Amino acid sequence: MIISIASGKGGTGKTTVAVNLALALEGTMPIHFLDCDVEEPNAHLFLYPEIKHSETVNLPVPVVDESKCDGCGKCAEVCAFNAILAFKSQTIVLPELCHGCGGCTLLCPRGAITESPKEIGEVETGRAGKIKFSHGRLKIGSALAPPLVNAVRKTAHGRGPDSGLVIVDAPPGTSCPVVASIKGSNYCVLVTEPTPFGLNDLMLAVDLVRELDIPCGVVINRAGLGDDTVSSYCSSEGIPILLEIPYDRKYAECYARGGRLVEDFPELRDALCGLWRKIAESSGADRDGTARRREMAEI
Ligand code: SF4
Ligand code: SF4
Repeated sequence: MIISIASGKGGTGKTTVAVNLALALEGTMPIHFLDCDVEEPNAHLFLYPEIKHSETVNLPVPVVDESKCDGCGKCAEVCAFNAILAFKSQTIVLPELCHGCGGCTLLCPRGAITESPKEIGEVETGRAGKIKFSHGRLKIGSALAPPLVNAVRKTAHGRGPDSGLVIVDAPPGTSCPVVASIKGSNYCVLVTEPTPFGLNDLMLAVDLVRELDIPCGVVINRAGLGDDTVSSYCSSEGIPILLEIPYDRKYAECYARGGRLVEDFPELRDALCGLWRKIAESSGADRDGTARRREMAEI
């Protein structure tokens, strides 16, 4: 069972929900927490994992042997990212744009392309209490978050269909790193706030999860702060509101000092356990995190 926690914009409380959901369920089933916000990972600030393993993630970037290249242009034709440019006199690789797909190497008719590793970041894994933990750190200057997100998600590979729950903390927004983070999830929780900005970005996020065919529900954070347009939208679209977390200064103060809401506020522990029960019921999962309706995702 893979649950993604996402939001159309930053600052809605997505990581707060993801972290505290994991903490509320800790010990009731095996949990693997994946912080896929590789540009700004911050779940570790609340989970305090002991990192046991760190691995550099590289992309295979093409290198052209000019002595073999005849300038046919096939590599440039196949590259969807304009990362390789073929001229009569020279073929140029732009490593910053290359996604390491290997297409140009495969299709070069003259065998003129080899590949060289380019570091894009690192993946760290460890444990936070009974929770298995993984996150990625994108190298400064690297613009290629999706391959690193994929590397984080691969740390949950091989767990099998009966091995509990994977909680994915996705990056904010609706761009490629978000798609890489949530694709194949059994359920996506969209965290928003009851404001015009929150509604606008929730609508974008709903479009995305529907495009990816992922069932979704909404958590309204800071409920009571703004208006009821988010609730009206969810009602008109048939999207369940799974939980409303009240706008309360004491929650903000707890967050600001790096505290854990479920430890300081028992009512939120109960509420997050209730959130899991609703997700389990609507996604066809057993309470121990085993997904029935959808197969474990191919990541
Ligand atoms: S496909 Fe190969 S031979 Fe053709 S331009 Fe590219 S590198 Fe050169
Ligand atoms: S490896 Fe893929 S992305 Fe990179 S230059 Fe070749 S075709 Fe383009």
